[in-house]
Amino acid sequence: MNARDVVKQADEADLRLVRFLWCGNDGTVRAKSSARHGLEGRLEAGIGLTVAMQAMNALDQLQPIADLGPVGEIRLVPDLETFRVLPYAPRTGAVLTDHVQLDGAAAPVCQRSFLKRMEARLAERGLVLRASFENEFSLATQVDGAYVPIDSALCFSTIATTAAQDYVDELAAALEAQRIPLEQYYAELGHGQQEISTGHAPALQAADEQLLVRETIRGVAACHGLVASLAPKPWPENAGNGGHVHFSLWDGDRNRFFDGSRPDGLSAEARSFIAGVLDHLPGLCGLAAPSFNSYHRIVPHYWAGAFVCWGYDNREAPVRVASVFRGAEEASTNAELKACDASCNPYLALGGLLAAGLDGIERGLEPPEPVDVDPATIAEDERARRGIVRLPSTQAEALDALAADDLLSGSLGPILRDAYLAVRRSEWAAYSAGDAAFEQQGHFAKY
Ligand code: GLU
Ligand code: MG
Repeated sequence: MNARDVVKQADEADLRLVRFLWCGNDGTVRAKSSARHGLEGRLEAGIGLTVAMQAMNALDQLQPIADLGPVGEIRLVPDLETFRVLPYAPRTGAVLTDHVQLDGAAAPVCQRSFLKRMEARLAERGLVLRASFENEFSLATQVDGAYVPIDSALCFSTIATTAAQDYVDELAAALEAQRIPLEQYYAELGHGQQEISTGHAPALQAADEQLLVRETIRGVAACHGLVASLAPKPWPENAGNGGHVHFSLWDGDRNRFFDGSRPDGLSAEARSFIAGVLDHLPGLCGLAAPSFNSYHRIVPHYWAGAFVCWGYDNREAPVRVASVFRGAEEASTNAELKACDASCNPYLALGGLLAAGLDGIERGLEPPEPVDVDPATIAEDERARRGIVRLPSTQAEALDALAADDLLSGSLGPILRDAYLAVRRSEWAAYSAGDAAFEQQGHFAKY
């Protein structure tokens, strides 16, 4: 698809504006839009943006980071294949973009380019990481400035399903119109909590779609006078919102996670990939569950996975191997990373997951013994013996673990690593000095 094809599609849909979307180090989605006039040129050459946006945290506080200050520009250059007409915004389309330097090279801070680099490393082995995000989110109304969940019904309750049905119908239609395959929907455990899962796709496409899905969840809610929040812990006393990632490795139409000759159906490559993910899990948390609010979700007994371990169908394990479906064994073999939420930059989360798993393959790692109980119920000394350590319990700990993880930090490269850590650590400084209301205000309507 070239710029002229996109303009033609934009004209057919009678668009006035096209949003050039990106996700920053703070995990928020931001945009600058092109009008119809000049659209073709901007689709080709990009839209100008200050380099400083990659130093901005989720409170719009600019961090003092070398070369990311008031002087200097990058271009937001779209990937034209990502063009969509947005069903929830009047006469508006969207594209996902890379951060590109004026000389045409990918900016070293570009998270989307980081994921492409990681995919290229995997491609050298003839492998593709396919992933899908399972987004949990909360639907609320605002009453006197407070967020109030739209229902107080039970888990999977049809009463909650009914309460959200008009919204969900429009959400499903909006996803379909954007060619994003919706797989399942249900009302989840928490009050006002919903969950949707979408089809798996190669990592870059999965990350692009994750941003479009987040936009759609919120955009459709706004059309209904509702607020949808993907914040990891929207209310301190309510269930957390996970953004679990299902993943597997493919070689053409062969699922390389699957080996029918093994009792558990998992290939040696899958085991090593999982072992790599476990080996780097504390640091990976710094990328995949990266907000202050994330660590009010990752606590024992909330099915978010709080200890480094894996297990078959174990929902207290941060890496869960999901049971396959009879008759579709190969197609349905996958693992799930639960230590992920929608406040992450999905390019960083998937790039980090890929780097960790690839490291496991390169080192031929074997995973430890799987855990078949809630790890919090295992005696402390036995947990220590089996290496079932607690995941980071704060944002600061997760970022320290990321900084200490040479493989993950090295994969990011020094410029992206330093900018990312500075931005996220500044959020820790702000929210750890504030109260629960400040935390909620800072996450509920930003993710
Ligand atoms: N809400 C849980 C979380 O925070 C997940 C519940 C489940 O779907 O297993 O990840
Ligand atoms: Mg769920």
